[in-house]
Amino acid sequence: MLKIAFLGAAGTVTGSKYSVTYGSQHFLVDCGMFQGDETITRHNWDALPIPARDYKALILTHAHIDHSGAIPHLVSRGFDGPILCTEPTLDLCRLLLPDSARIQAEQAGQESPPFYDEEDALDALDLMEGHPYYQSCPVMQGVSVTFFDAGHILGSAWLEIILQPLPSWNLDRPVRLVFSGDLGRGLGSMLAAPDTPERADFLVLESTYGNRLHSRTPAGQQLARAVRQTTQDQATLIVPAFAVQRCQDLAYLFEQLLAEQHIEPISVFLDSPMAARAPRVFEEYPDYLSDQACHQLQDCGRLLRYPFLRICENASLSRSIYDFAPPRVIISASGMVEGGRVLHHMRRNLSEPRTAILLAGYQCEGTRGWRLQNGEEELEIDGQLFAVRASVESLDGLSGHADYAEIEEWLADLEQPPRTTFLVHGDLESLQGQCHRLSQQPGWEVEVPEHRQEYVLIADDR
Ligand SMILES: [Zn+2]
Repeated sequence: MLKIAFLGAAGTVTGSKYSVTYGSQHFLVDCGMFQGDETITRHNWDALPIPARDYKALILTHAHIDHSGAIPHLVSRGFDGPILCTEPTLDLCRLLLPDSARIQAEQAGQESPPFYDEEDALDALDLMEGHPYYQSCPVMQGVSVTFFDAGHILGSAWLEIILQPLPSWNLDRPVRLVFSGDLGRGLGSMLAAPDTPERADFLVLESTYGNRLHSRTPAGQQLARAVRQTTQDQATLIVPAFAVQRCQDLAYLFEQLLAEQHIEPISVFLDSPMAARAPRVFEEYPDYLSDQACHQLQDCGRLLRYPFLRICENASLSRSIYDFAPPRVIISASGMVEGGRVLHHMRRNLSEPRTAILLAGYQCEGTRGWRLQNGEEELEIDGQLFAVRASVESLDGLSGHADYAEIEEWLADLEQPPRTTFLVHGDLESLQGQCHRLSQQPGWEVEVPEHRQEYVLIADDR
């Protein structure tokens, strides 16, 4: 029997976690944290269908917390198999997982104990193995995985999992299981465009933007317009962005905009301890960057070389931002304005009409970023209400996720449609949009799994 259970990112965008049963063995793909309001985060405490120690292995697509953030919890419950991922994913997890444990310790209260501690995070890192792209790696008896570039964040991968036919199956060839992970776009970014699959028997496909198209205005143009306005107004531009990849993409873009004279010199502050440390990981892996970024790195030994960039790793540098006269740009995390130093900048600037806010990523429903995007007039931060007088715009040209047209392009090289395609990692509207569009194409069988739903992919025949 070959079976898959959708333990997360089913009907929602966080908590990616899939349990695969292959004969009498089990493995997991991704083990992410559920993020958002309490109706979602309570799933972090859901029991697994089998004891954690009975899983033989875990395969991880990329380092983002909604894909990796529950691994320490899994390990604290007894999982001790190998965790296979790419080399940069392992290094980014070295930053992200202990940080996630620290954030939980800070936010924990009596009703919400931390999900795991720093020691669990270190134990998890001990089990992780970094592999290069394009090399078949053994997972367990009869199962291997190859990582392909997904172009979403440094080291992100889509997975091709090959399962040898079991004697009980009425099948004499291997089965190919493809997990898209999160798919990027390769547009004006320091990463290359995603590789494309040619064959898949079963496909688990992300659908974050399953019913939407990104603006076809290049991100650079959109950003340059906002920067020019900020320069003219002698004001502050705040760009909340995800600490790993999106913050660096933005800082990287500034150099291009200046070189091409789309903007005048302006002070840019990269204000997030995580975003400040991540570029060092990027610089260790030139092979995982786009050709352009790789050449630039080889030329000058640095990836972020915008001359007016100040990276605020520690708190005193962060505090000094306001000693510099405007105009200024502050790039800060978290991307959905749910925590981190960006909250401080929001408190200080939100009610100032000349301030501009540029939201640079996906905003989950219910988050402060989502409220801003939806034009709410007041925003609560630490129990205090702030009138939103700043202008708010979305910089969707820089999204890390492919839209539905780009997903269709990614699928275009498939020799034939998969037997079944499962849509995950999207809100209900996106999933339904994607399902509708794909199902209309000849030969496509599409499912939208519900939370914890199980499917038998191959039944026992003999
Ligand atoms: Zn991601």
